[in-house]
Amino acid sequence: MRSLTLAGPACLLALFACAPDDPVPALAEAVRAAVTQQGLEEHTRAIVQHERPSGSAGENAAIDHLVATLEADGIPVEVHTIQAYASDPVSASVEVMGGGFAPKAITESFSATARRLEARLVDAGGMGDLPREPGTGERMVVAGQGMASASVRAKPLDVAGAIVLVDGQPRGGPVVLLQQLGAAGVIFVNAGERLTDLIATTTWGIPSLLNYDRLPAIPVAHITRSAGEDLRTRLSRGPVRLRMSAEASTGWKPLRVAVARIPAPDANAPYVLFGGHIDAWYHGGTDEGASNAAMLELTRAFFRNRQLLRRGLVVAWWPGHSNARYSGSTWFSDHYFDELRSRGLAYVNIDGIGQTGAKEFGAAATASLAGLATDVVLSATGQEIEPGRPGGNSDQSFNGIGLPLFQINHSRLEEDGGYWWWHTVDDDIDKVDYAILETDTELYADAFATMLAAPIFPVDLVAEVGGLGEALADIAATAGDRFDLSEAQARHGRLLEIVTAIQGSLPARGSAALDLGLVGILRPLHRVLYVPLTPYHMDSGSERGPLAGLAAVRTLAEEEPGTDRYRFAETLLIRERNRLLEALDEATAAAERLRASL
Ligand SMILES: [Zn+2]
Repeated sequence: MRSLTLAGPACLLALFACAPDDPVPALAEAVRAAVTQQGLEEHTRAIVQHERPSGSAGENAAIDHLVATLEADGIPVEVHTIQAYASDPVSASVEVMGGGFAPKAITESFSATARRLEARLVDAGGMGDLPREPGTGERMVVAGQGMASASVRAKPLDVAGAIVLVDGQPRGGPVVLLQQLGAAGVIFVNAGERLTDLIATTTWGIPSLLNYDRLPAIPVAHITRSAGEDLRTRLSRGPVRLRMSAEASTGWKPLRVAVARIPAPDANAPYVLFGGHIDAWYHGGTDEGASNAAMLELTRAFFRNRQLLRRGLVVAWWPGHSNARYSGSTWFSDHYFDELRSRGLAYVNIDGIGQTGAKEFGAAATASLAGLATDVVLSATGQEIEPGRPGGNSDQSFNGIGLPLFQINHSRLEEDGGYWWWHTVDDDIDKVDYAILETDTELYADAFATMLAAPIFPVDLVAEVGGLGEALADIAATAGDRFDLSEAQARHGRLLEIVTAIQGSLPARGSAALDLGLVGILRPLHRVLYVPLTPYHMDSGSERGPLAGLAAVRTLAEEEPGTDRYRFAETLLIRERNRLLEALDEATAAAERLRASL
């Protein structure tokens, strides 16, 4: 309930003039005033009291609380029941045969179930010594499965039939690769002594006929650093055989997706989609019961002030984030694809706010919305942030549609122990600080006030197109004279000129057509920047650089021309360059249409 220190969010962006009758400051002020610590605490407690794995009675009780609260205010809310493919970790065990050592182990979502599997132990560490069959590594890179570009060694590690130790948090990429190489099981060795609940599959959302074969067929376990050190000491003395079991309960589950819709005065106006996950590991205090409460309070406050909106707000509480790997948001993307591509303006994600001891603000946003995040945080807190690029670690299921992305973060410092309770049983109500939660919620209030009421939807075309140019230049430099991207760079230069002209001649007052026209320029670019291969099917989504479809230029740079890998990479790159040229042409055509209409 602090007042804004500067002129108000609408005036923050140098791009947009502040009209004297600008409703943004008034809207931000009204929403901030409506968001109280008391309200946030009441709803956080109502949600966090329940354990909420997706599809559980606890998750359903939390959804019932949201729906009852929204309906009491007269806010339109739909609850969809969907069928998702979910996986609950049940148990794991690891035992040295004949050695009397059986460290504590857990399994992860989507591990295969195996009982008393016996095999030799192999240490793959950071995965650098694995063989690179043509296609294997590249598919990992292109599908964004989190694989480092492994170097080719003279004598690659043989993992066939073995249980394999891998360093780091459990993740899908190594599981898929080791499975392809014939491994019998995988044990992840945590960098610390806490075992975090995570996901072992690289499938994103509900699997389809195209990718269900990537669901793990081998068991996955997770042990602590000290247990890993013990196993490695034994390996250094001679061969070790392990007995391993893992059980996950995997199959179709009905999940509920609650969606509130706040129309602008014009019911058909474009809208911003706002989402966060309602499911949690255990009680999920900061991941993310507190954020769910913030979503609820923001929804109520914007609904009360809906006469000031120029654009609609659609708020969704996603199930299936953890144990069904983003199935809720993927379902919405699949089923509302057509509506989102014609009326959606951006996807705003929220997660992990209100952490006790949080000190450092940050943001993950596409370049088009990064300036808004920077300005909102600077204005309200005085902290200068550098927003990062959105990864593939949340419900970013809207990249195929091409929606700009926005998320504000507020994190604990490493020297204070970091976010140590993340994805463990310790993430409970005691980790929520309601004063911090109020501050964090107000940042979202400011950002939404600008997105929903500014005269023109606040996307920075020049930043996004400029960022694409930098990514393209990096890729062209890596490719050297082995792959020609000059035509793409020339067309990019033309697009940059047009969007610079558009941004310099925006009218003081906008329209729905202008908002959609601006985002319409960004959508084809977003698809090539963030989605390798096709936008209609979910890829694995793991962390990767921009223009992931062109990542195989690294293979051209590393390989001798004429090898199988070189030629396979070249074929892929030719196709991906076609896709990039088409995207640049689509964006340029959209930009020319918009400029002509100004
Ligand atoms: Zn989360």
